[in-house]
Formats: sequence, structure tokens, C-alpha cells
Amino acid sequence: MATLDSLKHALRQKAEGVASFQKNPLSDAQYSAAFGLLVEDTGWDTYHDFIIPQLSESLGPLFSSRGSISVLEIGPGPKSVLEYLPNGTRRKIRRYTALEPNDLFASALESRLCPNSEMGLPFPCVEVPPHINRRPFSAGEENGAGGAGCSPSDPHEKYDVILFCHSMYGMKPKRRFIEQALEMLTERPNDGIVVVFHRDGTLYLEGLVCHRTATFPTGVVSVANDDDILDSFASFIVGYVMQNGDVGKAVRSEWRKVCRSMGRIEETHSHQLSFSSPNIMAAFTKHATSLPELIELLPLARADYTVKNREAVLQRPASVVRPTNIGQVQDCIRWALNHGASLAVVGGGHSGHCLWTNVVSVDMGAFDEVHILKARETGTSSDSDSNHLVVIGAGCKSGHIVSKTMEAGLTIPLGARPSVGAGLWLQGGIGHLSRVHGLACDSIVGAVMVSADSAHVIYIGQVPSQYQPTGAVRPENENDILWAIRGAGTNFGIVVSVTFKAHAARTYFVENRIIPLRNNLEAQHELRHFDTKIAKNLRRKCAADAYLYWNAGKMHLGITMLESSAATLDFTVPKPSTESIDWGTGTHVRTVDAIGLFETEMYVSWMHGGHAGGKTSSFKRCVFLKDIGGDIIFEQLMAAIVKRPTSLCYLHLLHGGGAIMDTATDATAFGCRDWDFACVVTGVWPRDQDGTESARSTVQWVYDVVRALLPLSTGVYAADLGPDPRDKALAAQAFGLNRSRLARLKQELDPRNVLAYACPLLLPKTREGPKLVVLVTGKSCAGKDYCAGIWVSKLNQHNPKIIARSVSISDATKQEYAHATGANLSRLLNDRVYKEQHRPALTKFFLEQVQQRPRLPEEHFLNLLHDAADIDVLLITGMRDEAPVATFSHLVPHCKLIEVHVRVSQKLRHARRGGHSSSGEGGEQDKDTDAELMVLNHCPSLIFINNMSGHAAPEIFAGQHLFPFLHEDLQRLADMVRLVPGFPHPNVEFRHVLGISQKRGGLALCTSLLQTHFTGDWAKVAAIACCETGGLIFASVLSSQVNVPLALIREAGKLPPPTLSVVKPSSYISSMAPSSSSVKRIQMERDVVGKGDSVVVVDDVLSTGETLCAVLMLLGEAGVRAENVRVVVVAEFPFHRGRALLRDRGFGMVDVRSLLVFGGA
Ligand SMILES: Cc1cc2nc3c(=O)[nH]c(=O)nc-3n(C[C@H](O)[C@H](O)[C@H](O)COP(=O)(O)OP(=O)(O)OC[C@H]3O[C@@H](n4cnc5c(N)ncnc54)[C@H](O)[C@@H]3O)c2cc1C
Repeated sequence: MATLDSLKHALRQKAEGVASFQKNPLSDAQYSAAFGLLVEDTGWDTYHDFIIPQLSESLGPLFSSRGSISVLEIGPGPKSVLEYLPNGTRRKIRRYTALEPNDLFASALESRLCPNSEMGLPFPCVEVPPHINRRPFSAGEENGAGGAGCSPSDPHEKYDVILFCHSMYGMKPKRRFIEQALEMLTERPNDGIVVVFHRDGTLYLEGLVCHRTATFPTGVVSVANDDDILDSFASFIVGYVMQNGDVGKAVRSEWRKVCRSMGRIEETHSHQLSFSSPNIMAAFTKHATSLPELIELLPLARADYTVKNREAVLQRPASVVRPTNIGQVQDCIRWALNHGASLAVVGGGHSGHCLWTNVVSVDMGAFDEVHILKARETGTSSDSDSNHLVVIGAGCKSGHIVSKTMEAGLTIPLGARPSVGAGLWLQGGIGHLSRVHGLACDSIVGAVMVSADSAHVIYIGQVPSQYQPTGAVRPENENDILWAIRGAGTNFGIVVSVTFKAHAARTYFVENRIIPLRNNLEAQHELRHFDTKIAKNLRRKCAADAYLYWNAGKMHLGITMLESSAATLDFTVPKPSTESIDWGTGTHVRTVDAIGLFETEMYVSWMHGGHAGGKTSSFKRCVFLKDIGGDIIFEQLMAAIVKRPTSLCYLHLLHGGGAIMDTATDATAFGCRDWDFACVVTGVWPRDQDGTESARSTVQWVYDVVRALLPLSTGVYAADLGPDPRDKALAAQAFGLNRSRLARLKQELDPRNVLAYACPLLLPKTREGPKLVVLVTGKSCAGKDYCAGIWVSKLNQHNPKIIARSVSISDATKQEYAHATGANLSRLLNDRVYKEQHRPALTKFFLEQVQQRPRLPEEHFLNLLHDAADIDVLLITGMRDEAPVATFSHLVPHCKLIEVHVRVSQKLRHARRGGHSSSGEGGEQDKDTDAELMVLNHCPSLIFINNMSGHAAPEIFAGQHLFPFLHEDLQRLADMVRLVPGFPHPNVEFRHVLGISQKRGGLALCTSLLQTHFTGDWAKVAAIACCETGGLIFASVLSSQVNVPLALIREAGKLPPPTLSVVKPSSYISSMAPSSSSVKRIQMERDVVGKGDSVVVVDDVLSTGETLCAVLMLLGEAGVRAENVRVVVVAEFPFHRGRALLRDRGFGMVDVRSLLVFGGA
């Protein structure tokens, strides 16, 4: 698909030579009509999937650090994109100015933002009316310095946010405009931010360094294939209109032809022409001009500097620095930390993420030494091979390491290409020796690195003393870091050197064979034969790789058989020892050492005439597969080959198993080990087509193929996954169950995301995931998935700004069960009867797994939350856990977790189950739905009786019971709770919940929410119990509102006798006060409540749960049964696991609700 940029060039070429007086600028109406085309249909996807989420993420930290925000938006068009931010964020905008030179847009914008707008104001809390200035943004020359000219009211006005949303259209040179905007930013701590969204091409700003940047390569703009529309569209793209008259008419006609020849017609939208419109986001702070500070400290790469990866070559980094000592690496990280910048790192330069436009890259090439330590030098007693250590500088390439180690009779298991660098061993490293010695990262025993959080030099694991840099320290979390760098090592710091355990050098017998394939049947037969009869039967010292590719009009299967031996074998009559090669002598047979091995690689030496002469560029992604000859996977492999966009594309299947499986999946970060073949989907194009449509469609082919293989795979190789949004789904499957631990470590070890371009591990910064998580529980066939589906669509309809999604937590188990047993995964997921047949075995399988990995349910839960980082409400079905809210809420302390228990009559369940009864269920427990609740042993937040057919009942339930959790009054209330970091203790982020009462309207709002969140009948409530001081403030207003008396609970000695009393440990915050005693008694007058009474407890906060437990015990003393008590708190801090404590102390049946939830301690 041609890009808008290439379309612009082609259109301009057609108009070239036509006298300039024939060209007129677009009128406001013409511009407005064409602009509309860009934001319709597919164009809107760019906003929905990229601009809006990126905007929220970039602005998030600034918005959360300030109570009020001022915004200047440059050229917003008819509607501000800020309108799509969450309500709580928009409410912080207190001043809004726009510069919009198009009169039509400016008028539209004014009517949207003016105070009498009927649609509700997008920025409801502005303190002065929004100001729409009908003029362009100028770079300040004519107005003098200081940004005059953009605001008529105050030429020196400053803004927290300056937003260029619709490309920097017509602004040249762009750097000057950004610098101008930077001067107009506020300078308080946490500086203001300039955010630019730019359509097409690169946005190179000549040495300005961006705070963060992101790309959206898959943006598409579609226009109707209609003469008038194409005329309007083409004029917009070239930036002028042709005058009427013969010349103009002729040019317009040519333009239509160009649009039609370059636009793609999609099968589904035959009346439309589509163009690729990649988008870029770049955010800058006042530190954007800080590059000189860094380059003063260390050498730069040479002017003709280049890297291997062709995608990376197209990037234009702010600078490439080349440290020559460890102090200079520290300088880089210190500089990044001081200026809120991120860094890219270059090892061998084979990935697409070592260079990024407007970002500084750190080339580690100067660290190119290899030091070999014999066993006695390492301080180990034995002289076995693996006691030899090799210390390798992070700038070394595989070929150099192999030749150096070979000189000492040693080797390290690396990959197949000599030029690949540190990215390989830090992210895994699959190679010819993997079946003998494991992955490259499995041989890592130590490392020296500069930490991303503090720029300290640290060493971890085994680093011989002579290679420990002066001043380097062994960190406390050494084990975590060593674990993490063995598979995800590009994410936590800049690695300076790695210590490998070495193995004895080997000799290799290699046989390459190429089998032309006449048709699919033959292809499948050969591939299956290769997999089941050859590869599966090989011993560890042997490996068999396959290549599927197209050559000379035919599909081919290339096979490389390899046997290695540490003994010096006499291969003069070359023959493997041999592992049942029953298809004759190989075509090409050689005996080589480790260096010679690089040359025997089939792609390098044989396919496509050997590397297509070397003048190619490639793009790879890798998924892990089993059963490659089986029908389903084979079908996808064939489809991939058939759809290859260039004849040079191929699939490389690298043999797995053997020693790769010797390491447990959670022993290193590399968490995907259970595979037969690593399928490297390799898109190749002629190098002279770099940056063209051909290169782009080849990259897209790679993504399409891996996306199709993903559901059939057992994992994804993390190497080279980066910030490209197409990598997101792959990154979610990389590292297996280690992903959550890695995400937590990333937050801990690189909290400022200095290494932002490595394989994504972070949760998006501001969207910490869903705010509301609904755990839909109930027995099998109660209709949980059905109800969840209806609730999701109701929630999505209810508020278009909310994204709700439902997922099943049991899918992960089903996937693992299917792999382990050969059951059909798709039927397990979609076929109810099939699922019911497997239910007992599935349950057994899960329980066995949990016995081995007790934290598995937590891992599954966190994985779901991790994947849902971009949505607002997550509904989870398939939970097996008793009291799931109490069990899981501390894991996601910033989310509100509720449990909706779905119940259905036994008759209906039986009918839905298709007559199957599953073990452990049915019988007496099924007879009575009330009895079902009794056996729950905890109180779900809500119960839905699912006995009616049709959507009506679940829809009504959603309206009555789920929508209130999303009511914007809750956000208003949350906004009233001031965050006080470091009070009363440096580690505490204090939330001043009682401060609500000090805000105008605060108590009224809170009372009305407490009232609506209590779903019972106030007339039946005997008393509202409250503990001084926090509870009393909120309860007393509520009490007068609902006309229910208070039951006061106070410290011992403050109420007249007769009283009841219990011991109460001090609350979390009070325990930090210097004078506090750890235990107090609380009392209540004896007769304020009595046996059988129904009581509502109101409190300000639920954190550790100690206070609430004491209150419940006191009520128990008075004879009030736990089932007759309901609790409503204003704010809950799930981190402290209060609900779990309540349950442990026997109060699991008490209904506890909270209005607000806050993360943090
Ligand atoms: C032609 C080719 C052949 C390949 N063959 C194999 C193979 O046989 N086996 C295999 O497993 N993989 C193979 N790969 C994949 C390869 O492992 C990855 O592309 C790897 O990322 C390349 O590492 P690099 O250092 O060369 O690239 P770079 O682009 O320089 O680095 C890759 C990543 O590592 C990070 N990084 C580099 N150095 C450091 C450091 N010192 N500290 C922290 N982060 C750092 C970079 O920031 C980047 O994110 C191959 C790739 C290509 C292109």
C-alpha cells in the first residue's frame, strides 16, 4: 500500500512544470472537507488505536502530578483530541487555548467548547473560557523571542501542555517551531510537555532529543473512489488546488489516475482507495536541547556510522555516542535520568531497535575484548570444560567470540551468524549447540552492568575479581537481576560484559540437502517425515533444521543435519554416526570447525544462490512450534509461503529440545522452552528496495504469518520485539509465565524506562490497566460467559469512552492441557460439550499444576491483567478460587475488584451441560441455590440469578448494579482526595480521605454515594456503626440523611457504662505516629444494638482490616450476626490485604463495599 508521503511526491510530480500562478492555497472550506476524509473510517482507527492512547500515556505523569493544567493546542481542527481523554484527566484542564487559523474549524471548536454547549462541556473545569485564536503558530521571529504571537492576551503566557496534533503542516524548519514551543512551557518541577503527532515520513529534529517517541506503522487512510472526492483529497495531500481552466483540469485528471494507481482496493471495500499513513508521536520537555551536555563527555560514532539492520538504518538518531570506558556508559545513563530521556543501545546492530529517530544511541562496540580463564584461574577446583569462564565485552560479535574461544579449545553456544552481537545472548540465543549446551543465555553465569535506575556499576553472579570494575558493587537483588538478564537482558541496564561458562570446542559434521517439492501433499509428507522420523529421533549432539522456501518456480524443503563432537573426530569419510538418515546421501557434506560452521548455513551458502548475493535486507519474527507436519500448522506454513511478497522470503525451522529443556522454565527469564522448532519467519527483499512499498509489505507479511501461527504456538522468541504496536501481541506471549515477574522487575530496575526500546515489559504508564475488574463466578453452566458477554456490550454501549472486555482465566490452563494431552484446543475453548467431557481431566491437570507451582493462579490472574493494560473494565470468567476478591485484590491494588456470582437453577444447569455431570458437582449442593451460597463461605459483591432466557435480565442487572461502579461522581470524589507523598513516613503515599469533608460539597457527594452503594433497605437497618474519628464524620451525615441512628464506637473510657469492649491494634497510619501504642481498646454502649439487628458499618478507610475486625468483633459481642452486618468504606487500600484478614478472622460472609480504591502503601 503506497504511503501518503509517496502519493504526495507522485502528485507533485504530475503538477511539476505547471506555472505557479495556476496553483492556489486551499480555502478553509476545501481544507475542512478534505480533512474530514482523514479522520473518517480507517483514519479514525489511528486516533482510536494510537493518538488517544499515546496522548493519555504521555500526559499521564504530568496530569497526575498537578491539580490544574493549562493547554495550548496548535491546529486542533474542529474538535480537540483532548476531548477523548478520560473524564478525570479532562477535569484537570483549567485553561485551554487553541491556535486554529481555519475559520470553519475555529467556529466549530468554539461552539463545542463554549459554556452553553448542549453536549456537555469537554473541559468542564476551565477557570477562564477557552480561547480560540484564529491564527497560525509562528516560530516567533516576527514577534521577537518568547513566543509572542500565539496569544493575544499575554504574549509571555506559559503552558503545561502544548499539543501539535495534526502534523506540523507547513512548519519549516520543524526544529525551530518545537524550540519555540519549548520556550512557552511552564518550568515548575515536572516540566511541561510538547507532544507532536506527525503523519508520514520521519520527524527528524536535528539533534533535539525526545522524551519519548512511538510509531504507528499500520495507520491507513481510505477515500471513496469518486472523482470529486479524489480531487479534494489530492489537493489536500499536495497542499494546493489547481485553478479551473484546461491546465487545472488536466492536472486533476492526472491526479485521479495517480490516486487510483497507487491506492489499494480492499476486497471488503471495493469502492475505496486505501493509503498507508504511518504516524509518529514525539514528546519533548525542556530537556530536549540537552544533547550538548552528553556529547561533551564522550566520543561520537564516525560520520559514516551504520548498522546491519536496514530498518534501523532508516532511523535518524539524535546522536550515536561510543563510550570507551565504563564511566562513560554511566555518563549516558546519568544524562538520561537527569533529562528524562531514553536510550537505545547498539550491540551487533542486527535489531530494528538499536537506533531511533531523535533518540541517543549508545554503541558498545569499543567493549570488544574476550578474556578466557582456565579453570584454575576461576578459583574452581575441577578442570572440567564448564569450569572455564569467558568474560566477553558487550561489543563483541559472535564470530569474534567463537574464533577467540576456539584458540583455547573452547566454545560458547551462540547463533548462526558471525556478525550478531550482545542482543543474541542477552535475549536467549538459539543455535546449533542449543541441543547440546542449551541456549546462549543458559551459559551466562555473571555480568557487569550499569544500572538503569541509578547509573551505578554493578556486578552479578560470577565475575572474576580482575574483571570487576573499580567501585562496582554487588546489588542486593543480584539473583533477580541474574535471572532477568538470562533471556530478557536488554531491559534492565546497559550490560558491559558477560561471564559465560565455556564448553569444549567441537567439530561439526554438516549435511545440507535440498528437496524440491511438487505439491502441498508432497510438502506435508516430507515435512512430517522430517519431523517425526528424523528430528524427533536425534540424540542431543545432533540437530536438524529445515527451511521452507521458493526457488525457480518451485517450493523447496532445505534440510541441514548437523552432528557435533568434542572429540577430534576423523571425518575424512564424512558420515554422521548416524541418526537414521534414511533418505540417502546428502547433497552437500562437510566437516568443519565452529568458524567454518558459519559458512555452511543453508541460507548463506545454498538458498537463492547463497544469500541472494548478499544484497538483501531482512526482517524476522520467531514463534515456537510443535508438530510442524500436523495439518493445522502445516496449512499455515504453506499459506505463508504461497503469500510471500518476494521470492526471497522463507521460513527457517530451528531444532529445539535436548539441553534447552534441561533448564526449568522459571529458572531463567527465557520462559518458553517447550518446543520442537523455533520458526523464524524471515521476510527478505532486495536491499535497493529499503524503505519502499516492497519492504513495508514484506514486514507486514512477517507479522501476518506470525499472527496466524501465534494461537498454534507454544511461545514467542522475545529477540527483536520492540515498541512497534504489531509486536504487542507477540511480547504478550514471550517469556511464558515469567512475564509478570519481568514486568515487576522492569518497574523496579528501570522505573524511568530509560531502556524504552527493548522488548516491551512495562505496563503503559498511565493506563495501569482496568479500573474495574469484575470476577464473574458461579458453577459450571451457570451462564457466566454468556452473562459476561452481555455485560461487556452493555458497558461499552453505556459509555463510548469506556472499553470493556471479557476474558476467561481458564484459557491458559486449557492451552497447557491441550499441549500436554493432545486435546483439541479450539474445541476446548468453543465447544461446550467437548469441554464438559474434558472437565474432570482438566480440573485434575490444573490441581496437579498448582501442586507444583502454588502461585500459578496468581500468575494467570496477573497475566490477564497485564494483557488488559489498555482497557477500562475487565470481566474475568473461569475463576476457581474461593473468595477471589480477598485473594487477588492486593495484586492489583489500583483496581476495584468485585465479584458477581451467577446462579442458576439445577434444572437449567443440567440442560446447559448437555446431560453431562461433572465430578465434584451436582448432588445435594445443586438442589438449592441458597444452599449454594452457603457453601461459598464468603460474600460475593453481587449475585445475579440467571434463570430467565434472553438478554433482558442481564442487561437490567448491568444498568442497576454495574453502571454505578463507573459513575463519574466516584471520580469527582476521588479528585477530592489529596495525595501527600512521604507523610507520615517517607515510604507512604498518604491519601487524605478525611479531607473530603473539608471540600465544598464533599460530604454531600460522599453521603449520596454511600447511600447508593448500599443496596439494602435502610428501613430495616437498626443502626449505623462507626468508629471515631474517620467513620464518625461520614456516618453522622449519612445517619441524618437516611434517618438511621448511630452506634458510636470510641476509644475505651470515653463512653458511659454499661459498655462492651474489644482490643484493637492501631491502624496502619496511626501506628506510624511516634507516640502511638500498638494496641488500644474500643467500646460501644451495650444497648445501642441488639441480637438479630441489621447493622451498617461506615468507615473512612479499609487498609489492614484490623479496625474493621475489631468493630465486627464488638458487634458480635453485642449479639449481631456477621451475616446481618454490611460495611461501606469510603476508600480501600487493597495493598494491605484487609479483606484477606477479615476472612482469616471469620468475617468472610460480611458484605464489604468501598467507594474508592487507591493503589500504593
Ligand atoms: C541475520 C540474523 C541472524 C540471526 N541469527 C540468530 C541465531 O542464530 N540465533 C538467535 O538466537 N538469534 C538470531 N538472530 C536474532 C538476533 O539474536 C537478534 O537480532 C539480536 O537482537 C541481535 O543482537 P545484536 O546485538 O546484533 O543487535 P542490536 O540491534 O545491536 O541489539 C539488539 C537489542 O539488544 C540491546 N542491546 C545490545 N547490546 C546491549 C547491551 N550491552 N546492554 C543492553 N542491551 C543491549 C539493544 O538495545 C537491542 O534492543 C539473528 C538475527 C539476524 C538479523
